[in-house]
Amino acid sequence: MTLLNIAEICPHTRTLGPGNRFVIWVQGCSFNCPGCISPEWIPQTQATLIDPEKLGNLILSQPNLDGITVSGGEPMLQAIALTKLFQHLRNHRDISIICYTGFTLDEIRTKADIIPLLELIDVIIDGQYIASLNDNQGWRGSSNQNIHFLTPRHLPQSALFTTKKRDVELHIRNDSALMVGVPPHGFREDFKQAVKL
Ligand code: SF4
Repeated sequence: MTLLNIAEICPHTRTLGPGNRFVIWVQGCSFNCPGCISPEWIPQTQATLIDPEKLGNLILSQPNLDGITVSGGEPMLQAIALTKLFQHLRNHRDISIICYTGFTLDEIRTKADIIPLLELIDVIIDGQYIASLNDNQGWRGSSNQNIHFLTPRHLPQSALFTTKKRDVELHIRNDSALMVGVPPHGFREDFKQAVKL
């Protein structure tokens, strides 16, 4: 069985794509972008292993969900398990799927084992994060990252991906707080300081 190695989940957010979305952050990335928003999820170590269908059932059980967003970490490193998850979701509901990746779409299209995953994604946001190109707007970290609409589903909201004013949600856990969204300039430092207090 191919399991997903996930760092975190958030069952509901409105900060990572249109509508009400379930977010999955996978553990492990092959890049090391300076200024990465989630450096603790770069190491390719075992975090939480989960059967894709089991995670799919959890997602499908959430009320009023419009879609899922997958980030990380690097989702393409877990393409086979994500393909199983996305197929399971789509077998039950026509749900929106947005995925971030540090690879470019052209690079991904050369990898035969990732092509089935691409065929299930509505929007892919590609390219590594470059801090000097962070223009402080939209649902992508820096302006070099491209928004590829692989299906027409989110074309009516296309401008939001690059121009939306950034916002974040803080999800309070038992002994920690999870920041969800693409943060405005300086927010991450302020947030870390506030969590320490
Ligand atoms: S590709 Fe994304 S997760 Fe990986 S190091 Fe770069 S910003 Fe971080």
